[in-house]
Amino acid sequence: MSKPTLGIIGGGQLGSMLASAAKKLNVKTIIFSDERDAPAQRFSDEFIYSQYNDQQKINEFISKVNIITYEFENIPFETLNKINKSKPVLPKPSINRIIQHRLAEKDFINKLNIRTTQYISIEEKSQIYTLQDLLPGLLKTTTLGYDGKGQHLVNSIDDIKNLDIDFSNNYILEKLVKLKKEISIIITRFSDKKYEIYEPIENVHEDQILKHSIIPADISDKILQQSKIWAMQLAEELKYVGTLCVEFFIDRNENLYVNEIAPRVHNSGHLTINAYNISQFENHVRAVCGLEQVPLKKISNAKMINILGDQINNYRNKEYRTNEFFFDYFKKEIKQKRKMGHLTTLLI
Ligand code: ADP
Ligand code: MG
Repeated sequence: MSKPTLGIIGGGQLGSMLASAAKKLNVKTIIFSDERDAPAQRFSDEFIYSQYNDQQKINEFISKVNIITYEFENIPFETLNKINKSKPVLPKPSINRIIQHRLAEKDFINKLNIRTTQYISIEEKSQIYTLQDLLPGLLKTTTLGYDGKGQHLVNSIDDIKNLDIDFSNNYILEKLVKLKKEISIIITRFSDKKYEIYEPIENVHEDQILKHSIIPADISDKILQQSKIWAMQLAEELKYVGTLCVEFFIDRNENLYVNEIAPRVHNSGHLTINAYNISQFENHVRAVCGLEQVPLKKISNAKMINILGDQINNYRNKEYRTNEFFFDYFKKEIKQKRKMGHLTTLLI
């Protein structure tokens, strides 16, 4: 069978790394992005610049590809669903609909008896006055949040008065967990009970943005097993095809919680490019394109550091050791706290 052409919606660093992985597998890629300077066009075979609601451009894109995937989850469900009627979209749009909405996502996880933080849907400010038990807590927008965007810390009832938030956008209030550690599991599901699962990755955040990731995670065997079981259960229940990330919290009493699911390749999995025989990106392409599943082998322990904003200038034109791998995302504009690149160091 000849290899399919893969359409990728979104042209940032995740799109770039997916396109590079596809190239290695001789899978052609077409990036579809609403950003004229989208970095992923450097790595794909073709690039379509368009707004996400331009039906003519979408039709052109659909006509040129066999399968469509996406690098970020905030694409309107209606758009993905419409595309899915002509060509398969993987992961399925119905999965995206659940996960892009924090409330639907947490309800889904809890129904499987998997622990999340305590949370409640908030429709108006006055509601919070009765929710002392959930304070200190975080108010999060139900949709479109990333890297801590759309989140507000509410320490006490006194804080509520000063909240300047438009509650007509829906929010959830989530109890703050006394964090000991954060980990993530990257899993690629190929079909029924067929997975490749990476070992848990330990993640350190700063200002709600991932700062660095490391394997192995310094966790108990019990947490290691439980996190893997939950990740497999979630992927299976969603009948997911492709790479998925589950983010977890571990509290000071060694309780494990699922924080959120990302229905896509994930920042914490960048170290899989150098630390494993097959990266999260290559596995995603293999799964969505129906290519061969190859058993995962770890090559090395590793640490990945995110390079934010103008820090990138310190990394460009630098010499690296043979165990260091620098990735420049080639973003045109440097913005404060923007993810500009990463450095993975293999820990031998
Ligand atoms: P995003 O969609 O922006 O990634 P998250 O819900 O994952 O949103 O929050 C980003 C980070 O903020 C988390 O990785 C964690 O460090 C911190 N955080 C979020 N919710 C909580 C919580 N309930 N308790 C403690 N820390 C939290
Ligand atoms: Mg997160």
